[in-house]
Amino acid sequence: MLTGPLPEQVDHRNQVSDGAILQGIIPLHRFSRLARLLDNDDGNAQVRLEFRKHKKQRTLAIGKASLEAGLVCQTCLETFKIPLQIGIRLILVNSESELLELRQSEDGLVVDSRLVTLVDLFEDELIISLPMVPRHSPGTCGKFNREPGPADNRETHQPFAALSKMQKDTNL
Ligand SMILES: [Zn+2]
Repeated sequence: MLTGPLPEQVDHRNQVSDGAILQGIIPLHRFSRLARLLDNDDGNAQVRLEFRKHKKQRTLAIGKASLEAGLVCQTCLETFKIPLQIGIRLILVNSESELLELRQSEDGLVVDSRLVTLVDLFEDELIISLPMVPRHSPGTCGKFNREPGPADNRETHQPFAALSKMQKDTNL
């Protein structure tokens, strides 16, 4: 079982015969299409992945990925992070025409050879899971937090007010 950075590609047929479970990280900068939609590509996706034998000599990839996505809030334009968590279940096929043969309930991915690029398994699903319009959750948006109000002043000055009152009381 791997726990460090995962290889960019694996031989899925070997993985099936090994019955191995891949577990580790994929640096976010490897997800080039996803990274373009994020505020930055620092950090990693945590990934768990296994390959099983499927009908017609095909491979079924089952996995999940989670990461913290840095986004820009469209209300206050400050960055914030949201957790993304997705699961995938993809049948690996050799061509676009094989993809069309799959049942409607089945999802597939075209792989050219025995090698599958791990990023390709997860990237579409991660992109779909991003919010259409990124925004802070209500009440936590910077625009509302940063508005200086009387409440802020009271909080800042209260300790000193209390102190001076105490000194006054002692002097009396
Ligand atoms: Zn905001």
